[in-house]
Amino acid sequence: MMRPLVIGNWKMHGSQASVESLLRELARPGEQLPADVVVCPSFVHLQQAIGLCEGSPVEVGAQDCSAQDSGARTGDVSAAMLADLGCRWVIVGHSERRQYHAEGDELIAAKITAAISAGLNVVVCVGETRAEREAGDAHAVVAGQVRGALAGQASLGGIAVAYEPIWAIGTGLTATPDQAQQMHAFIRAQLPGQKGVETNRVPLLYGGSVKPDNAAALFGQPDIDGALVGGASLDAGDFRHIIMAAE
Ligand code: PGA
Repeated sequence: MMRPLVIGNWKMHGSQASVESLLRELARPGEQLPADVVVCPSFVHLQQAIGLCEGSPVEVGAQDCSAQDSGARTGDVSAAMLADLGCRWVIVGHSERRQYHAEGDELIAAKITAAISAGLNVVVCVGETRAEREAGDAHAVVAGQVRGALAGQASLGGIAVAYEPIWAIGTGLTATPDQAQQMHAFIRAQLPGQKGVETNRVPLLYGGSVKPDNAAALFGQPDIDGALVGGASLDAGDFRHIIMAAE
């Protein structure tokens, strides 16, 4: 079985003081955890977080990167800059980027290429809206996003996919373990074959109101390899419970 992967997406939250107190709790030097653990603070807190995670099993990732390597892109941050700082991961194609920054599959695919060539691991997010699910379109939407993001990749090495139904993000409405498992198995079947890594080695994370009380049931599903956690990752105790539920 694959080692579980639990990623905390801190979104646009936090201050230097809260980053320090959260990571003093979470990132304990020499500790063994039952999952690979990554925290994704805002760009401005990355360097501080990397320092605080040193010697601990917790790795640091960013929430986005540019599709460009360098150049005149005011306000953007390249994957190479993130790698240079000591980031190991980057989230790409989060639904909030798709919604508020009009990111589409083509741009997301280019960001994945940029991140992989900079040596980062990538978690690419997919997921349907409530209206799409109610219209019976969830599978078609998710399949299109998976193919759009990954079709151009030479290999699936270093890539994880997070299924985050938009109706479950920040709403307290989690997909049931059955609903999530069903979509994860479907996503695994959509992964392009012969891309250097067997499709059953690609971590598939569930995201959308993962909490201490639902994590174990989600992790118990055969195609759920971990979680992308928003709100509950901002509380060290809750996030620790979720990590421990991966055991
Ligand atoms: P949530 O967010 O856990 O607060 O629902 C998940 C995400 O958006 O990654």
